[in-house]
Amino acid sequence: MLEALKEEVCEQNHELPRNGLVVGSGGNVSGRDPESGLIVIKPSGVKFAKLTPDTMVVVDIDGNVVDGHMKPSVDTGIHLYIYRKRDDVFGITHTHSPYATSFAARGERIPAVLTPITHMLGRDIPCSRYATPGEVDTGEAILEAADGGYAVLVKAHGVFTMGGSAKEATSIAMYLEEAAMTTHLAMLHGPVEELPQEEIDRCYRWFRKNYGQSGAKAVNA
Ligand SMILES: [Zn+2]
Repeated sequence: MLEALKEEVCEQNHELPRNGLVVGSGGNVSGRDPESGLIVIKPSGVKFAKLTPDTMVVVDIDGNVVDGHMKPSVDTGIHLYIYRKRDDVFGITHTHSPYATSFAARGERIPAVLTPITHMLGRDIPCSRYATPGEVDTGEAILEAADGGYAVLVKAHGVFTMGGSAKEATSIAMYLEEAAMTTHLAMLHGPVEELPQEEIDRCYRWFRKNYGQSGAKAVNA
């Protein structure tokens, strides 16, 4: 069942430790099948190295396990909350990547000072209010802060990114961490200058039109 999506979600979960975004079994990626509406997500508490497409768990939008022999990620409720409210989202990635999470620890957004990440997101990276982990409260806080956007820091917790696929959400998480690190290093030397919104809008439109082989999608690298 949903073999191609299981493979994609598994592969994108493997990208997290490969790119230094997670340790142990923390962090997770999910993807939603556009036809059935079912969600494929990482199993709970399993080390990334042990993940195979067969270990992925398929759940319905109410969280019932439809396929798979393991318990789904402890964060499944947060993913489902977002999928229920955002019909443009087909992939979600969650990490505690250190530089981005250092902003979340301070309850601060990441300002839009670098064009590479701004091209993808069209704005800064907002930080949510504090929310109780693993509950619907986190889903609410994410969507409030996202305000229709695709990347959010959750105060005192970590990073949630969304996209048109699991691959797109994970790409945003990777580039977001790079931007957080570079912005952090720049801020050590003094104040940083934020890009004007009209320039951000121009870059965002240009990037969506020109990037990649098809020119149609923003992030699928
Ligand atoms: Zn977490």
